[in-house]
Amino acid sequence: MKITFLGSSHGIPEANRKCSSALVEIGENRYLIDCGTDVTEQFATKNIPIDSVRAIFITHMHGDHTNGLIPYLSLCAWAYTNADPEIYLPGDVEKTARAIRDWNACNLSSEPRGFRYRGVAVGPLYDDGILKVTAFETKHINHSYAYLLEAEGKRVLFSGDLSHRGPSDDFPVSVLEKPLALAICESAHFDATEYLPLFKGCDNLGSVCINHYSERHMISMIELKQALTKIPVTFATDGMEIRI
Ligand SMILES: [Zn+2]
Repeated sequence: MKITFLGSSHGIPEANRKCSSALVEIGENRYLIDCGTDVTEQFATKNIPIDSVRAIFITHMHGDHTNGLIPYLSLCAWAYTNADPEIYLPGDVEKTARAIRDWNACNLSSEPRGFRYRGVAVGPLYDDGILKVTAFETKHINHSYAYLLEAEGKRVLFSGDLSHRGPSDDFPVSVLEKPLALAICESAHFDATEYLPLFKGCDNLGSVCINHYSERHMISMIELKQALTKIPVTFATDGMEIRI
């Protein structure tokens, strides 16, 4: 499994960091976790076929996780018509699907095509025989989720955005009951050191990547890295790749 951070920033873009989106590749099969930036431009730059995306998993509907979805689907409506990902949308799927359809109707001269929208509920969410995804509800907003990805015998967690009160109140700790190769964790809403009580001494946790972080939490991120002496900690940047 290869994970490429297309956007690693928090609620707003920074000079060299776009809003949240991660590309997950398992062989030639591709998936997106969040779509906060225009992924089509990045796919073109990287020479990745747009129609190789099998599914898109949105953690919650805030704009820094979704603002790239309409540009992507707008191009899929007429240019990349072979692209047909399943699109997992928290909250009111019908309302969001209608908004996307209305936007496409405004900028297309022909009838917009349909897409395969899906709702998100806690528990097993997706299994195409290549990737399994399980959803955990978080307390960031109504209808916000963390996603556990399982593929090639490895488990990876995307925390999504968590409660402003910190991870002790919200991190899906049950994922640590079995070996977790990588925890990709936000640090936009609290100091990264708040993960320490959960992660320090946890033998099941292989590595941590702090993603979707605000620069004001950088000191706490360094403190986390220094304190987790047995668990490698990295900080996501745009374009960074992790192979699991
Ligand atoms: Zn966010």
